[in-house]
Amino acid sequence: MSDKTPFSVRSRVAQAMGRVEPTTRAIVPPIHVATTYERDPDNSYSSGYVYGRPDNATVRDAEAIVAALEEAGAGALLYGSGMAAATSVFRALEPGDHVVAPKVMYWALRAWLLGDARRAGLEVELVDTENLDALAAAMRPGRTRLVWVESPANPLWGVTDIAGAAEIAHRAGARLAVDSTCASPYHTRPLTLGADIVMHAATKILNGHSDVVAGALAGREPDAFWERLVAMRKSGGAILGPFEAYLLTRGLRTFHLRAAAQAASAMALAQRLSAHPHVARVLYPGLPDHPGHALAARQMENGFGYMLSIRVAGGEAAAVATAARVRLWTRATSLGGVESLVEHRASIEGPDTPCPPDLLRLSVGIEDAEDLHRDLDEALRAAHAG
Ligand code: PLP
Repeated sequence: MSDKTPFSVRSRVAQAMGRVEPTTRAIVPPIHVATTYERDPDNSYSSGYVYGRPDNATVRDAEAIVAALEEAGAGALLYGSGMAAATSVFRALEPGDHVVAPKVMYWALRAWLLGDARRAGLEVELVDTENLDALAAAMRPGRTRLVWVESPANPLWGVTDIAGAAEIAHRAGARLAVDSTCASPYHTRPLTLGADIVMHAATKILNGHSDVVAGALAGREPDAFWERLVAMRKSGGAILGPFEAYLLTRGLRTFHLRAAAQAASAMALAQRLSAHPHVARVLYPGLPDHPGHALAARQMENGFGYMLSIRVAGGEAAAVATAARVRLWTRATSLGGVESLVEHRASIEGPDTPCPPDLLRLSVGIEDAEDLHRDLDEALRAAHAG
């Protein structure tokens, strides 16, 4: 190995990509808070920075890490939330364009697609994207401009074949965008499988500490569509703030460790809960009985992620009673933090949800896996004892 061989992404991310900050030799990147920058006497902006809405150096630091994690040829863009990132992709389309998205997906984006996106003139069609034949049948060559998939998808953790979906989208002249929040780049890198755009709610495991709301897009190549996204973030003013970007960089430095620990605990919990007398079904792509398991085993690496769901024997009342009795898990929405969360998902998604009423969604953190199991086991038993 020559001494010029680059170190791995993991090593570079641990050091926030640059080992030291060149001006002061600080080993922690600084937070740039300035909203405006001095012009040179010749009226140019030789630093490349003009104003805080289009660009910020602290945001760029975090974007460089996301781009490296996703192997993104075009780079990455950070937004004020996952929803701001996701909706930007649809806003970059033209009225009348046909878009295809999954029937089972992150519910707030689904609601936005069926509401605001339709009102803005997009023709939104929801299909079972886990079934590539159904996806292919939904394509309207020349009219379908975007296929959106989520894998594994909230809250049943269905797996979509990203390479297959990319081929179908491209054949019809459309782009493929992947919400990879719950896979994370530790398990899947959609751009290397042929996707054009990958989206993250960076609020979740990328930041990992439940203290930043942020979204990310990463692009395979700097094509015209990517340039439109860059221009729209600039004109629309959706950039992430510098303090949040700094916290995101800080969280990302331990991303690999957290993702490995969380996936290992999720797998152990999924296996043990499968044999639990008060659990009717465990939904986790790492289990051989999950419908997406074979595909997940091919498409994902290093395990199957930090999210799983359980269907509690005894129905909705038993599920809610179980959540009421946990001590170590926290009853809360969101996912991907170092602290484990449990949520009765149907309560938040409302009446038109595809989520079964007996389902508890589990976001597995970094606590002792034995404790996490014991707490759930005791809560399940207590709920069933009345
Ligand atoms: N995509 C997925 C899979 C999510 O779980 C979420 C949030 O829960 C989002 C997108 C939206 O992210 P944010 O809450 O940062 O807007």
